[in-house]
Amino acid sequence: MAKNKKVLTTNFGKPIDDDQNSFTAGDRGPVLIQDVHLIEKLAHFNRERIPERVVHAKGAGAGGHFEVTKDVTKYTKAKFLSEVGKKTEVFARFSTVGGEKGSADAERDPRGFAMKFYTEEGNFDLVGNNTPVFFIRDPQKFPDFIHTQKRNPATNTKDANMFWDFLSLTPESIHQVTILFSDRGTPRSYRNMNGYGSHTYKWYNDKNEYFWVKYHFKTDQGIDNLTREEAEHMKGVDPDHATRDLHQSIEKGDYPSWTLQIQVMKPEEAKDYRFNPFDVTKVWPHGDYPPIDIGRMVLDRNPENYFAEVEQAAFSPGNFVPGIAASPDKMLQGRLFAYHDAHRYRLGPNYHLLPVNRPKAVTMDNYQRDGHMRFDSNEGGKPNYYPNSFGGPEPRADAAEPAYDVSGKAARHPYSHPNDDFVQPGDLFRKVMTDKDRDHLIGNIVSHLVNANKEIQIRQTKIFYKADPEYGRRVAEGLGLNMKDIE
Ligand code: NDP
Repeated sequence: MAKNKKVLTTNFGKPIDDDQNSFTAGDRGPVLIQDVHLIEKLAHFNRERIPERVVHAKGAGAGGHFEVTKDVTKYTKAKFLSEVGKKTEVFARFSTVGGEKGSADAERDPRGFAMKFYTEEGNFDLVGNNTPVFFIRDPQKFPDFIHTQKRNPATNTKDANMFWDFLSLTPESIHQVTILFSDRGTPRSYRNMNGYGSHTYKWYNDKNEYFWVKYHFKTDQGIDNLTREEAEHMKGVDPDHATRDLHQSIEKGDYPSWTLQIQVMKPEEAKDYRFNPFDVTKVWPHGDYPPIDIGRMVLDRNPENYFAEVEQAAFSPGNFVPGIAASPDKMLQGRLFAYHDAHRYRLGPNYHLLPVNRPKAVTMDNYQRDGHMRFDSNEGGKPNYYPNSFGGPEPRADAAEPAYDVSGKAARHPYSHPNDDFVQPGDLFRKVMTDKDRDHLIGNIVSHLVNANKEIQIRQTKIFYKADPEYGRRVAEGLGLNMKDIE
């Protein structure tokens, strides 16, 4: 053996004599079970795949940093936001939502935009999308909604009837549907899209005053989208085009960046604001709450190993730091449970100890012990209960968030202003979109909705009509529907 060559070993360090020939009875004979190396190799291979994420399975990730560019200490006491110029390490993951791990990056779908900030007060995750709103506003509807974006249980193919049946029976989805079927539903790359926190969050300062906040990460590369025809083509020629683009641009030193803007609302303004500020199907119009630039995220490091860093990355909107907390947004409240729970299933109860998930700028210290794959020292002989008299970690009272008032009856409350669901998608169609955007929107919708039953087409087109009569009329025309069925 050449000098300095590394020795191939079993998982337990025993040198392996031959990795090409199985141990057999004679040169033609059956393989003997005593070939433990072969069995170990096959058995580990069989277990290489962990459960795929039920949503956001296909994704790409990169590391980098976030830098504060404006003083926001009057709004939050979060330490990583405490000084202009302060930098915090981040890891970001972008993804499609409905497709499996091998699906094409160019599918029409919202894009996940998840970030982990390794702050000195623990990890802060912001788990958003490239759209400022969502299809539904109650977590009760989430599993049903996702089923409709996946495969038909009988045919195992995507199904336009399932897709549009649910949406046409869920009119609150119209805002997100309008964005999804604009060309923003097929971004040219992950670098060419904005990221939005989507939900409203709470920020609080060191005087315990709190504010409602929305996040917008605006791409510094500029918005750029694929047309429907380009996306269809891209799915065939390079199903990994956005994954490849992110990796290659970082590899050649062309680091993508995003400018973070926030919108801030005072608690007293939230009480009678014209839209429910905690409804994730609504934005806060910029005219009411102008976005303020406060920071910049740069991605400049490709993962060394995709599985270790991207597949095992586990983000949760429940990972807050002092100075940042949840709002009463019902969808957010559902997600506060669902993400950690998904990771416990997918990665195991000790997923927080994996290098990409563990805090990097602070030591984690608590009384949780044991569980599957506890691969560190499990806190050795330190006390495993609280309170104790042996110097274990203590709660820090100033990490508490300010109390806020809640009132009303405990019940299953429907949304009280369903008619305002059509205002913002109507504004988007009428005021924000250009003629070209509208042409593409109508074409994108018609080419998809045409595959659903006529009854469903009519029900969905009535919703487009409610957002804007011209919007409904043009979809009806594209589908060959009778306007008398729509108006
Ligand atoms: P503004 O004109 O101030 O803002 C419009 C926003 O729309 C811009 O941020 C722009 O993003 C974005 N936009 C442009 N084209 C599209 C598209 N095809 N799909 C989604 N977003 C797009 O208007 P308002 O704040 O009064 O909002 C009007 C409508 O714009 C809203 O009802 C909503 O549908 C949409 N919108 C609003 C946002 C908000 O936070 N207020 C955020 C995103 C969309 P960019 O700067 O990247 O071009």
